[in-house]
Amino acid sequence: MKDENCIFCKIANGEIPSNTIYEDDLFRVILDNGPATRGHALILPKQHYADLYEIDEDTAAAAMKLARKMALIMRDKLNCDGLNVVQNNGSSAGQTVRHFHVHLIPRYENDGQHILWKPTSPSADELKAVRDELNR
Ligand code: AMP
Ligand code: ZN
Repeated sequence: MKDENCIFCKIANGEIPSNTIYEDDLFRVILDNGPATRGHALILPKQHYADLYEIDEDTAAAAMKLARKMALIMRDKLNCDGLNVVQNNGSSAGQTVRHFHVHLIPRYENDGQHILWKPTSPSADELKAVRDELNR
């Protein structure tokens, strides 16, 4: 399924040009046009899924497999020191384009980016309550 109002559907299917670095039957990988770091790329499925809740299991698995393949290529060619794999779902999580995508963000020592969160300090009881809620 494609969504005719979705920009990532158009990019993934080649209707809008992009800086493509990989393509197969299921995915196109493009350079992000507002990169966090040099080489920041996005894995776009060619079918439309809004997010991780909508994508089917097999395509989600294939996306992670492709993330690893791209990670090796990026390390080899960009000589990065590390890589963040980021996948946002919902506006509260920072998703701005409602077409499932995986960010591949090469990291370089002292690149000045802050992609990590601020840890909190829940009590043991609070952690247990969450654990029990999720195990129910
Ligand atoms: P997210 O906030 O997870 O939804 O990520 C959306 C990402 O898509 C952002 O990093 C944008 O810079 C990027 N982006 C939006 N439009 C385009 C475009 N036309 N070409 C390349 N990247 C884009
Ligand atoms: Zn789409």
